[in-house]
Amino acid sequence: MERSELEPTLALVAERARAYLATLDEAPLHGPGFEEAAWRLDAPFPDEGDGSLAVLERLLGEGLDASVASAGPRNFHFVTGGVTPAALGADWVTSLLDQNSFAWIESPLGAQLERTAIAWLLDLFELPSEWGGVLTTGATMANFTALAAARRWWAGRHGVDADAEGLTGLPPVPVFSSGYVHATAVKAVGMLGMGRGRVTTFTRDEVGRLDAEALERALEELGGAPAILIGNAGEVNAGDFDPIPTLADLAYAYGAWLHVDGAFGLFARATPEAAHLAEGVERADSVIADGHKWLNVPYDCGFAFVRDPSQLPPIFHATAAYLPEADEERPNVGLSGPESSRRARSIAVWATLAAYGRRGYRELVERNLEHARHLAARLDEAPELERLADPQLNIVPFRLRPDGIPDGELDDLNTRLGEAVLADGRVYFGTTRYAGQVCFRPAFVNWRTREADVDLLVDVVRELGAGLVR
Ligand SMILES: *Cc1c(COP(=O)(O)O)cnc(C)c1O
Repeated sequence: MERSELEPTLALVAERARAYLATLDEAPLHGPGFEEAAWRLDAPFPDEGDGSLAVLERLLGEGLDASVASAGPRNFHFVTGGVTPAALGADWVTSLLDQNSFAWIESPLGAQLERTAIAWLLDLFELPSEWGGVLTTGATMANFTALAAARRWWAGRHGVDADAEGLTGLPPVPVFSSGYVHATAVKAVGMLGMGRGRVTTFTRDEVGRLDAEALERALEELGGAPAILIGNAGEVNAGDFDPIPTLADLAYAYGAWLHVDGAFGLFARATPEAAHLAEGVERADSVIADGHKWLNVPYDCGFAFVRDPSQLPPIFHATAAYLPEADEERPNVGLSGPESSRRARSIAVWATLAAYGRRGYRELVERNLEHARHLAARLDEAPELERLADPQLNIVPFRLRPDGIPDGELDDLNTRLGEAVLADGRVYFGTTRYAGQVCFRPAFVNWRTREADVDLLVDVVRELGAGLVR
């Protein structure tokens, strides 16, 4: 029965995809009652299935009602990329072929495209071609992968093979960063058994900027013992950067490992316009970025790069009698990262890089930077909106600050405005706390976004804000 349903099921998906994509540019982020639609999907496990065609009909009906049009051009929440046509097509092919990109013998295609994708990404980010890396599910696991290499190095400095012996008997691992450190880097440190609470941040202001002198004093106090530094290339509230060259100097001077979290900020290196923000990353020991943000490939995809790629297999290898041996020509790419059986996410990465090339990505990043500048200019024209930072890259924090509202009420007002924006759904972005104030942090990373979408963002905020103040 399923063999005969396959063709109509795929035809249905293709037809609905065409309709969905045709309206994606103008569609609201969600329909009314999208959360209720999600809750309605809660149902007991059926004894008898309905068959693929009926289920896909339901998924593309009721299921769609519960979705957010996150690939669309007006989603400025988190740092949410869209999906390029090449990446979408390639992602469908990835499921069609159902490659296990673990061992070469299961998928020469997936393994070779992963090698090619990593090499092309190093090129895009102007990182040394001798570096290596691995594709992961996202920046969290990329941080985990790179910090596992840092942990191995750190324990090695103490004469211990941490991957064989663990960390027992070793002193606590000093992990130092600025206030910009991302929650998932801290999470990765925790998952690696180094202790979330061991991450010490050195900040000189309420925004979280690095206090390099305090960091240097802490390194000095270690008296030559090794440490791990986490530099942040692109923090999530205002798109600001740690001074990576300073961190690299300190890492060299004190013999520390420098890891850089560049989940989206590493893309600054794709354009001469912004490359200075992320200068010095080439001096790091490891660096990561996300694919599902600025590369605009579907979830889930991230990249971990390391200066010395031979550090990864000793951490992530697994041996069993039935597992094939790897060699230079036939790598088992799954043995350089935390997952074993894994999706061939290299296919979409390769396809989008091949389709648009260096110039396509430079233009995409530059266009999104222009969106941030345009938003800043529109905010400055609106008397009731207050911009809280200059656009460094692609994120502009701002808040509603109308005349006649006492300062003490602004956090509450902006919290309610943030809720109103999400409920309205014409545009989408979240609230944060920046320099102690509740504000918004729209981010631009989607290839579909146009200037008119940025204008709509401002118009919606002003309209909903006026409604709340009234
Ligand atoms: C998004 C982000 C992460 C986490 O990425 P995931 O893809 O959600 O795992 C880590 N660091 C920074 C700076 C980010 O912006």
